[in-house]
Amino acid sequence: MNILGIETSCDDTAAAVVADGQKILSNVISSQNEFHAKYGGIVPEIASRKHVELILYVIQAALDSAGVTYNEIDVIAATNRPGLVGSLLVGLSAAKSIAYCYQKPFIGVNHLLGHVYANFFEHPDLKLPHISLTVSGGHTLVMYITSPTQYEILGHTVDDAIGEAYDKVAKFLGLGYPGGPIIDNMAKDGNPEAIDFPSPLIHSKDLNFSFSGLKTAVIRYVTEQQRTGQSLNYADVVASFQRAAIKVLVKKVLEAAQEKQISTITLSGGVAANSALREILIQEARHNGVQVYYPPLILCTDNGAMIAGAAYHLYQQGVRSGLDLGAYASL
Ligand code: ATP
Ligand code: FE
Repeated sequence: MNILGIETSCDDTAAAVVADGQKILSNVISSQNEFHAKYGGIVPEIASRKHVELILYVIQAALDSAGVTYNEIDVIAATNRPGLVGSLLVGLSAAKSIAYCYQKPFIGVNHLLGHVYANFFEHPDLKLPHISLTVSGGHTLVMYITSPTQYEILGHTVDDAIGEAYDKVAKFLGLGYPGGPIIDNMAKDGNPEAIDFPSPLIHSKDLNFSFSGLKTAVIRYVTEQQRTGQSLNYADVVASFQRAAIKVLVKKVLEAAQEKQISTITLSGGVAANSALREILIQEARHNGVQVYYPPLILCTDNGAMIAGAAYHLYQQGVRSGLDLGAYASL
């Protein structure tokens, strides 16, 4: 069964064809980074307009690269929540139109299920239930995953998402956009112990996170160093910021695994691409007898394959969406 998965929840215009929820026949992603870079973050109006310009080309490229026609697609799936509503509407409307024209079933997919599903491509036998740490531009979640389509949120950020904190710190330092990959690279040359930034909520009894205070601490530190003319090493700053953020992520996800007596953790979302997070989590988890899985880099950030993959399991469960399905900013 071939599923066309369309993803436009944020600033990537993406479409993919996946066979039987497992085999990625094509995965086309058109990044809009260059259009948002000068603003240091995503401008929603630009994102939706660019999606409108690109969506049909991206879908056609996904079909061509998979070597299939619309007639050989069995189900059309698109992200319908959560995300920027203007962006979501573009992919969703395209999917509905195709489903209507070709008389195919249509399924709206929760973006977060997609991010978690990205792990199943390389690890189809991934143990269930397991604990997921989903870290992206808009979310920081610890979830209890019971099936490819079901989850329970155990903890979440109370303010900024971790990816957002990376992007805002990078913007403040004038490093570029998106900040995550830039900080990831730059931190390799810095000393993570150089500055003692706080890891907010690290001692709280729940599994929640907070990154706004950490971001402010970085801004304060840099401003103060500049004001007093003291030395300032950006690599040390970002390495120390990253260490403080990762420390709390790793502690809480391992706590969740222990609480639920689970020995498998998956990482997903754009920040799952972070080399330090992967390294430290794997290392710490090993001490606790916990195995960590993460998707290949290309499947960490937004893509259509993860949407098609999750849609396959929804389809098997009998889920079908109406053409009146809405787009929603939140879950
Ligand atoms: P959401 O999935 O919550 O709706 P989103 O779709 O915008 O948000 P993703 O595409 O999953 O988010 O991830 C983008 C985020 O990942 C950005 O904040 C980016 O800076 C961050 N990111 C990407 N690569 C890395 C990396 N190597 N290290 C840290 N952060 C990274
Ligand atoms: Fe995402």
